[in-house]
Amino acid sequence: DERLSRVKGAVRGFPDFPKPGILFRDIFPILRDPSLLKDLCSLMLDHIRSKTSEVDVIVGLEARGFLFGPILAMELGCSFVPIRKAGKLPGKTEKVEYILEYGKDVFEIQEGSILKGQKVVIVDDLLATGGTMKAACELVKKVGGDIKDCLVVIELSDLKGRDKVPEGCSSLINY
Ligand code: 5GP
Repeated sequence: DERLSRVKGAVRGFPDFPKPGILFRDIFPILRDPSLLKDLCSLMLDHIRSKTSEVDVIVGLEARGFLFGPILAMELGCSFVPIRKAGKLPGKTEKVEYILEYGKDVFEIQEGSILKGQKVVIVDDLLATGGTMKAACELVKKVGGDIKDCLVVIELSDLKGRDKVPEGCSSLINY
């Protein structure tokens, strides 16, 4: 697919960011060029439509899941709902705690933003160890969402993150 090779060609690797030994994959060059952003979103939409005939909610994970999520939701004619780190969302929230390399973090979703039984697709930019996606799935299930797919732009396959996501994870680009 030509769209995929164009998008892949725009991803940049930054060695030793944010810490020594980490090769950070930067997706922002895709957003600098509207035709690349269109390519990426149409690839993601094709994928979502192949997975499920109906989507009620696109859930985006803080922060880079917020870049594509609303565009996809608008195109699909469904809701966009954010999952954020603790303390960022107003009003009542549901929470889930998850383990990081050093310490713990908390993810939150606004109460009532997903109704029981709604069909949900979770999106993020990248799957590494899978801890982030796993926590997001737990939270969506906690509020009664029916997870149809978890879609990331990039998957770092060596880290075996998908093993932590029993709901199944899809990716466009593998490293
Ligand atoms: P995980 O929980 O799977 O280890 O990490 C995935 C989360 O960390 C995602 O939300 C993603 O945005 C961020 N992340 C980790 N490594 C990278 C990277 O190399 N590039 C980008 N763009 N995000 C990363």
